[in-house]
Amino acid sequence: MAEDKKKASPLDGAVMTAEGLSFKGVIMSPVVENCTGCERITEFESASYCPTYAKPATKWTHGICNFATHVKGTVVQGKTKVNPLKASKRAARGR
Ligand code: SF4
Repeated sequence: MAEDKKKASPLDGAVMTAEGLSFKGVIMSPVVENCTGCERITEFESASYCPTYAKPATKWTHGICNFATHVKGTVVQGKTKVNPLKASKRAARGR
């Protein structure tokens, strides 16, 4: 078995163009500060890119990136909806 096989980079086939890094026909933007520590970050020609999202800055504008490996989202606990009909039946039964 060949032990010296290189692991394929997620950005294999990417090409640096005048507009930026082109990967599968999409221009990729470098990762942003919020991405620091994410395991998906891939280095390409001394810059860091995200193979999951072409524009990481946009991904963080509406909260935590849902594919981030270094930050976990928090579940917002609010009041549960109560069906008023069931609530009145429950009250009538004394529960
Ligand atoms: S998955 Fe999200 S947090 Fe990780 S590098 Fe990509 S955009 Fe950044």
